[in-house]
Amino acid sequence: KQAMLKVSDLKKHFPQKSGILQRTKNVVRAVDGISFEINEEETFSLVGESGCGKSTTGRSILRLHEPTSGEILYNGTDIMNYSKREFRNLRRDLQMIFQDPYSSLNPRMTVRNLLLEPLLTHNICSKKEAEQRIIDIAEKVGLSKEQINRHPHEFSGGQRQRISIARALILNPKVVILDEAVSALDVSIQAQILNLLIELQQELKLTYLFISHDLNVVRHVSDRVGVMYLGQMMETAKTDELYSDPLHPYTKSLLSAIPSNHPSEKKERIILQGDVPDPSNPPSGCPFRLRCPKAHERCAIEKPVYQEVKENHWVACHLYDQSNLDITNESDYNF
Ligand code: SF4
Ligand code: MG
Repeated sequence: KQAMLKVSDLKKHFPQKSGILQRTKNVVRAVDGISFEINEEETFSLVGESGCGKSTTGRSILRLHEPTSGEILYNGTDIMNYSKREFRNLRRDLQMIFQDPYSSLNPRMTVRNLLLEPLLTHNICSKKEAEQRIIDIAEKVGLSKEQINRHPHEFSGGQRQRISIARALILNPKVVILDEAVSALDVSIQAQILNLLIELQQELKLTYLFISHDLNVVRHVSDRVGVMYLGQMMETAKTDELYSDPLHPYTKSLLSAIPSNHPSEKKERIILQGDVPDPSNPPSGCPFRLRCPKAHERCAIEKPVYQEVKENHWVACHLYDQSNLDITNESDYNF
């Protein structure tokens, strides 16, 4: 089965001037060679600390940033070299929902006009058909006919996010990129919106790229999860496997920080030393080595290969290097 979205070795480097005279040119390696696939109707999540490049990845796929290099296949078609115009048409199929519905909704427009706008932009249907589509999508996201005459400020944060969801879905997209889509909401509202997103995915057969720093939220919605650090993919696995049997030391430390649901389950918090390095000056070898409790000599010299170490379980760490496995002590993995 062909992937709905296939990203290979994607890079997004931002030039940055620095120094007193702004003459030194640095390159910020926001996304530095990541690869992943998302199957049809699947939810794939990107997690990692802020600044790890997950949002830049989403934005690069939608060409809100021009990618530096790599390959992006949508439904088997290479969209990396699409012209602006070709891409504009494609945007019907690929939509994005952002964290902050306050800033993405024009306060002067009614909900009706906010929903009408994408239909007009893409010249999709007659005014009469548009009205029916607006009512249908509003109903799907839980907004009443009467509410579509109101303005965004008359709604709560959760309802505003319903409006953004409706606005993204009115074009019948295939893929939706959700960037911290529930992060600004109260926990109880988060659950409502997440459940709505899951329902809509099933009903409308959507494929989700779900970007979030919140590991509890990600666990709830994802089929598979990719863990990013310093613009690179550290580990990818099915959700259950990633949470029950994480391999990469970075994933282990992230998971050790979330409270356990079972008080009997003893979990030792792994506190990382230091900060995330500057992405314009990443360390040699393994990007995680300056903070890794398992770092060893090889980690400074050689960058670990991102490889499949179990079925559908990928990791970039020398501890799991296939050529190494027979000589490494099993107990080394459990820290
Ligand atoms: Fe740690 Fe080395 Fe593995 Fe990197 S390659 S995560 S530094 S053990
Ligand atoms: Mg972000």
